[in-house]
Amino acid sequence: MPAALIETGFITNKSDFQKLTDSSYQKEFAASIASAMDKFMQDHPFDPNEIYPYIDSSTVTTSGGVTTVLPQTTTAVTTEPSPLYFNQTICIDPGHGFRDNGAESTFTDANGKTVLEKNITLAICNYLVAELQNKGYTVVLTRGEDSQTPNAGFSDERLCNITQRINWANEQGYCLYVSIHCNSYTNSSTQGARIYYNSGNNGSINKVLCQDIANELSKLNGKSPSVFNDADLAVATKTIMPAALIETGFITNKSDFQKLTDSSYQKEFAASIASAIDQFMQDHPFDPNEVYPYL
Ligand SMILES: [Zn+2]
Repeated sequence: MPAALIETGFITNKSDFQKLTDSSYQKEFAASIASAMDKFMQDHPFDPNEIYPYIDSSTVTTSGGVTTVLPQTTTAVTTEPSPLYFNQTICIDPGHGFRDNGAESTFTDANGKTVLEKNITLAICNYLVAELQNKGYTVVLTRGEDSQTPNAGFSDERLCNITQRINWANEQGYCLYVSIHCNSYTNSSTQGARIYYNSGNNGSINKVLCQDIANELSKLNGKSPSVFNDADLAVATKTIMPAALIETGFITNKSDFQKLTDSSYQKEFAASIASAIDQFMQDHPFDPNEVYPYL
């Protein structure tokens, strides 16, 4: 249907704040919106005997394998496979990219340059893809090199947007989503990998995935990373497949920085993640003839 989202003002601005917390203004604001909606409805009257006039085409593609009844005269059936029937492809997301640099190191590399999160995540993910392919998995990346044509026909804008990446992975029906990031903090002594999942959305299975990752990383680092249940994280909440976000370490900590900018460690880190994913996939085998059992 026709739709709009109205941001009423900035509650971080004194003048907007005073207006938006004033019930008289709230009422006036509501009256203005009501007048506009009234005008719109009069200009575009609804007729239940006709196809809703704002839909240009009688062919409507929906996802989900469900027959969608449009007003009165048109029906649509999906031609795409239902997103409930996942394809056995693992989606790896190198956090950030293009004009989104992510976190920046407080230390410099051997060439005296600041290191950007987006470059570390891409390096680790490229190793991770190779490791998973060696184990026989089909893998896609949400982005490639910054200079390359984006994967999957993404526009630059889409590649910079975490929600768009997740929506794309959901639409494709990938069976697993792992996003790789680097942390930063004002206190340079804060260090170590951290793993995030969401308990509300496939929660128990997400936790299992994160625990498998934590187990492998504890073998690598001699210390188990913390696993957090984060209710607000987009990667954790918007994915419809099992998902995890891995913060590889703090590039604002000297020790983590040295490891994360060392290609040998990047490769070892990727191998650990690949082993964890392999373990998870073996424990939870994919069956294309059934609804994905994690839902
Ligand atoms: Zn990040």
